[in-house]
Amino acid sequence: MPRKIRYHFNVHSLSIEKVRTTFRDRLKKLLSIVAMGAVFSAAVMLVAYNFFDSPKEKQLRREVEQYKLEYEILNSRLDNVQAVLKDVENRDDNIYRVIFEAEPIPNEVRNAGIGGADRYEKLKGYDNSDLIIETTQKMDKISRKLYVQSKSFDEVFKMAKSKEKLMLNLPAILPLPKNKGQIISGFGLRFHPILKYRRMHTGIDIAAPKGTPIYATGDGVIAKSGRESGYGLTCIINHGFGYQTLYGHMSSIRVREGQKVKRGEVIGYVGSTGLSKAPHVHYEVILNGNKVNPVFFFYNDLSPDEYENVIDKANEENQCLS
Ligand SMILES: [Zn+2]
Repeated sequence: MPRKIRYHFNVHSLSIEKVRTTFRDRLKKLLSIVAMGAVFSAAVMLVAYNFFDSPKEKQLRREVEQYKLEYEILNSRLDNVQAVLKDVENRDDNIYRVIFEAEPIPNEVRNAGIGGADRYEKLKGYDNSDLIIETTQKMDKISRKLYVQSKSFDEVFKMAKSKEKLMLNLPAILPLPKNKGQIISGFGLRFHPILKYRRMHTGIDIAAPKGTPIYATGDGVIAKSGRESGYGLTCIINHGFGYQTLYGHMSSIRVREGQKVKRGEVIGYVGSTGLSKAPHVHYEVILNGNKVNPVFFFYNDLSPDEYENVIDKANEENQCLS
């Protein structure tokens, strides 16, 4: 291909001269073309990168969406865990701790915060930071609460151990074989069958055939074994921890004062001695000198239905057997 020859007018010599293109000129031209090409392709790539994803990016984007979804699911599962934990906490405060007469765990302790404010700093600055921080916070809260809860159970366990003796000593069963006796009259104002007027009935009457065995309702020491005005042949057991039980109108007594007895041990037999209308045991629970309703001390050997039945029977206002 023949070289294009170019001319230019020289204003100094006032003549037309051939233009001489040096290597340097040609290099310059080439470089400028390359530079323009580079700028143009950079512009194209910039547009492409901003508006179109590469396959790799598309895949990453899909993955991020997937992680986001997983985080959301995790988050709602954590909500469930929190609800279960709340239930355990309530049970701990309102049942276990009540049984052992311990104070509930203060809310400040249960909800104590964790770590410093910048604990979640490294999770900030991403598109899904809020979700990730929320989930992490929830997780931290749950771990903290679980820790408090497990410590609390350790404490409850210790209390249970030390109260083991109390549990053995507390009156906790019916004083008669379960299906032998029938609760005739409960605690409260009742019509006295012999005195013929309403007065406080300080125990419950369980009717049973004469000679039916009477049980000690908790471990203890016999404090009284003999005749008591109105109650006839009577037995009183000292259970410690402020508790006593009294069994009246017995036909005979099998234990002597000072003797140690175990829960369920036979201490005597049903009779109708003293001010009594028919064979029955008059049973009392005395706490720190006050007579309290014995139906609250039958929990050991009754099913929930039976227990409800006993409460109903004991609440009927009728005539007692004394
Ligand atoms: Zn009675």
